[in-house]
Amino acid sequence: MTYSARPTWVDIDLSALQHNLQQALNLCSSNQRVLAVVKADAYGHGAVQVTRALQRFGVRDFAVATLEEALELRQAGIGDNLLILGGCFPGQEAVFLEFNLMPILMDTATAARLNAEALRRKRQIKVHLKVDSGMGRVGFLPAQLQEFLPQLRQLDGLIIEGFMSHLACADELDSVVTHTQQDQFLMMLQMVRDAGLQPREVHLNNSAGLSAWGCPDCTLSRPGIILYGGLPSPAFSTRLDLQPVMHLRSCIAQLRSLPAGSGISYGHSYHAHDNMLIAVLPIGYADGYNRLFSNRGQGILRGQKVPVVGKVCMDWIMLDVSYVTGVEIGDCVTLLGSMDDISITGDGWAEQLNTIPYEVFCRIGNRIPRRYQSVP
Ligand SMILES: *Cc1c(COP(=O)(O)O)cnc(C)c1O
Repeated sequence: MTYSARPTWVDIDLSALQHNLQQALNLCSSNQRVLAVVKADAYGHGAVQVTRALQRFGVRDFAVATLEEALELRQAGIGDNLLILGGCFPGQEAVFLEFNLMPILMDTATAARLNAEALRRKRQIKVHLKVDSGMGRVGFLPAQLQEFLPQLRQLDGLIIEGFMSHLACADELDSVVTHTQQDQFLMMLQMVRDAGLQPREVHLNNSAGLSAWGCPDCTLSRPGIILYGGLPSPAFSTRLDLQPVMHLRSCIAQLRSLPAGSGISYGHSYHAHDNMLIAVLPIGYADGYNRLFSNRGQGILRGQKVPVVGKVCMDWIMLDVSYVTGVEIGDCVTLLGSMDDISITGDGWAEQLNTIPYEVFCRIGNRIPRRYQSVP
């Protein structure tokens, strides 16, 4: 049975994605490729569609966080290099080999298990050796690496395809931490080479690192957020020329004239200060429209910004459209992204919500369908 969906959706602008990719490529040195990070459903933009688009734009290397995310791409027929940033958990080894997936390698026990599974199949598996150069999260610390390297060389089932680390503070433009991390990274890379290993790929930089910090020894960089048009931090606003890829829209389901004094939504946290025209949109916090936008959010309607009034509900929000001329039921409101040369950015949402644009994009829920606007 076919039917019309609730008029709430996300437009994904693939030409903006292409523009942002070009910005990332411009930041790469001539010996570097982009490894596009498409974890968390491509930061909420839809992993399969975004990956396919990036393939068309020439990208051949991708990273996801989990095995499930990798399998989603494989099952869609995406056969490119796939790095799994979450590594390989016990019991997943066979699937990694079966689907030709590359885990990051961050501990010796996993190395042994992957090696055993590869040898059992008379095969080898490519891994990217992950070192902790100062992030304080996962990976081999220098002393552990020193101890492990002789062992690692004996594991014939493993190919050390890559050597990598991750930056903790690259989004702070004057951070000394990043300089220390770069030194540690190169020091550990030298340890690996001295042990006789020659990783084909070397990579350190996320979006912030790529934008602000070089890596002459790197063959890859791993941008995520800038591909989607978000800033690594507000400090980058003047350095990067990015376009929003995600545009969240919802159309007016009901218009109501309320007399002065009327309470609006749960708790009556808003009262009409005059006779007011209120538009109701079929979207709410269950869709990722944060409840903190109660009496604080904004939408773009007929070329102007209009405020959210009252509490955001699970499935509805209310907007004051009293000053919009010609407003009608069915008019569509842009809540995130741009319309008519006006925009509400993910960075702006992040500031209002005291978070980062990464979380803003990831949280736009699965209940909202994505529509892909193809490149002209
Ligand atoms: C998520 C992630 C990235 C991408 O980071 P951005 O800040 O979005 O560019 C790169 N590397 C690793 C290891 C990650 O987990």
